[in-house]
Amino acid sequence: AKASGRNAISSYHGAMHEAASQRLKIDRELRVALRDDQLRLYYQPMVDHGGQVIGVEALVRWLHPERGMVSPAEFIPIAEESGIILELGEWVLRTACTDLVRLIGHFGDATPSISVNLSARQFRLPGLIDTVTAIAAESAAPLSRLRLEVTEGSLLDNVERAISTMQALRALGVLFSIDDFGTGYSSLAYLKKLPVDTIKIDQSFVLDVLTDNNDAGIVEAILSMARHLGLATIAEGVESVQVRDFLMTRGCNYFQGYYFSRPLTFEHLVAFIEQSSGR
Ligand code: C2E
Ligand code: CA
Ligand code: CA
Ligand code: CA
Repeated sequence: AKASGRNAISSYHGAMHEAASQRLKIDRELRVALRDDQLRLYYQPMVDHGGQVIGVEALVRWLHPERGMVSPAEFIPIAEESGIILELGEWVLRTACTDLVRLIGHFGDATPSISVNLSARQFRLPGLIDTVTAIAAESAAPLSRLRLEVTEGSLLDNVERAISTMQALRALGVLFSIDDFGTGYSSLAYLKKLPVDTIKIDQSFVLDVLTDNNDAGIVEAILSMARHLGLATIAEGVESVQVRDFLMTRGCNYFQGYYFSRPLTFEHLVAFIEQSSGR
């Protein structure tokens, strides 16, 4: 028993070591990815009750030379830990701004806003307001069509500071959504102090909302709370018309998910918007 216990411990340390060196490897490779243009932005439509595209979420992909398309779920947490998320985040913002200007070239005043995910580390950076302003100015992208998605977690560690950062950006036209709503430990008290107009209901509550009574209860509670606070709601992870209908009849304003569209390349996004607006 002793021997197997020691083996268990050493293989535990082995696994920890392996995980650490794996993180180091990905960090190194991400720096190469940024330098060699291996990242791509995809866009997933968000639609209203009539299926019109009211916004699109920018989602990063890594076109790895050997592994093919890598999901951000695999590398964003590592990039966040290592700090390279700051450079990656600037790349995402810059690309989204350039694409926003191209989108305006196609759709003019009817152009949907682009949502960009802001990591906790980016959100806490003192120079955030200047960075956003400067990057948007490079491509002359209008800040009024830029939306930032921040998670509950990144707001909570310093609520007063979060509020002042958001207010400064809001004054420049930038819109805010709270991402992954329901998964953090939000105090409802601060919600009404934040300059946000939209909350995104996390997909973990949406995916099984028809079969899981707990999820249904949470979704209904979030929708009712949002209504009372005058906030718009977007449900993510909508994979079927039945889920869309469930949410629609309970007052959810907007939807995002595979039922409507997967994340798309810029070219496919343009075609999708043309189709959904009946042009
Ligand atoms: P998120 O912000 O919650 O993004 C939504 C995720 O749900 C995306 O995964 C999207 O592809 C996926 N999704 C959309 N509709 C459905 C659906 O109907 N069913 C299911 N099962 N999934 C759906 P993705 O693209 O893999 O992104 C994962 C996470 O990586 C994002 O979660 C976000 O936290 C992070 N991320 C992605 N791009 C960026 C970025 O540019 N910056 C930062 N900081 N984080 C990013
Ligand atoms: Ca998001
Ligand atoms: Ca989310
Ligand atoms: Ca998420």
